[in-house]
Amino acid sequence: MSESDSGPEPLAWRLRSIVGERNVLVDEPMSEHTTFRVGGPADLYVIPEDPGEVRDVLAACDEAGVERFVLGRGSDLLVSDEGYRGVIVAVGDGLMGVTVDGTEICCQAGVDLREASEMACELGLTGLEFACGIPGSVGGACFMNAGAYDGCVADVLGSVRVACPDGSLETIDAADLDLGYRRSRVASDGLVVLSATFSLRRGDPEKIRAWMDELTRRREEKQPLELPSAGSTFKRPEGHFAGKLIMDAGLMGYQVGGAAVSKKHAGFVVNLGGATASDVRAVIAHVQDEVERQFGVRLEPEVRMLGW
Ligand SMILES: Cc1cc2nc3c(=O)[nH]c(=O)nc-3n(C[C@H](O)[C@H](O)[C@H](O)COP(=O)(O)OP(=O)(O)OC[C@H]3O[C@@H](n4cnc5c(N)ncnc54)[C@H](O)[C@@H]3O)c2cc1C
Repeated sequence: MSESDSGPEPLAWRLRSIVGERNVLVDEPMSEHTTFRVGGPADLYVIPEDPGEVRDVLAACDEAGVERFVLGRGSDLLVSDEGYRGVIVAVGDGLMGVTVDGTEICCQAGVDLREASEMACELGLTGLEFACGIPGSVGGACFMNAGAYDGCVADVLGSVRVACPDGSLETIDAADLDLGYRRSRVASDGLVVLSATFSLRRGDPEKIRAWMDELTRRREEKQPLELPSAGSTFKRPEGHFAGKLIMDAGLMGYQVGGAAVSKKHAGFVVNLGGATASDVRAVIAHVQDEVERQFGVRLEPEVRMLGW
């Protein structure tokens, strides 16, 4: 952690006074909090449980001049083996409230997107079926504008409640979030999502369930869900499919240590067991170089890097 006037120890005390003793973990292994199951320790791992705590934790880190990173479910994240010298603000572990008002579902940022999708189905609301297999938090999904099978967060998001970098809390309409392919103002403006309201439509529960079952079947058939990964490792390059380029480059199964390009779906880098973050990074780098050498296309990771 970068030292400042107040230093890390006083900051830890300050954070404990905000979120309570049990919600501040020291040297917490990030392999426990990422779907790749790799990554070294974070200096401090803090779990706020309501929007006010999130705001106060962010302010305490900023005042102490200590770096912080907002974590959802860690399903799109590669943390280095050295870990993170700062504070992980684990929004995805707290903030689990949900309220329903007619066809609108408001989820706090830590709610699992799959659970939001399931809940919508049970309520006979259509629009969130695409999300039934995306293992991220609602906050992370807004950050990434997560999507699958022709649906994405932008299609159903009404508004978000966010903490702004200046410490204010604001409600922003989805139309003002500049949501695009794996892109949003949440990411570009450093906003922290506290909750999101999805505007859905009434639908036939049986049809909703059938579509979700079909999407799950497609995922299970095509994706290596039995192994730790962060889903599609690379963004879709303009005019191409990352998986096809990787396959055509002859890289399926390419392995470094315990990490490899999946033999089931070339777009996934997987942890075969015992991978280090460096192994994963080395596979990513080789794939980028080799695809560029063969096809002149530089693949850009979709996975976020932390602590490198
Ligand atoms: C098996 C598998 C399948 C997947 N399939 C898909 C898919 O079909 N489509 C798809 O889009 N993605 C998919 N993903 C990737 C991933 O689930 C999504 O990108 C998801 O939205 C990430 O959410 P998260 O909570 O895990 O975010 P994290 O990995 O925790 O963080 C990702 C980024 O979001 C930021 N963030 C997280 N929470 C907040 C918040 N509350 N406020 C502000 N910023 C925040 C973080 O700072 C970080 O920069 C898949 C992943 C896996 C492992």
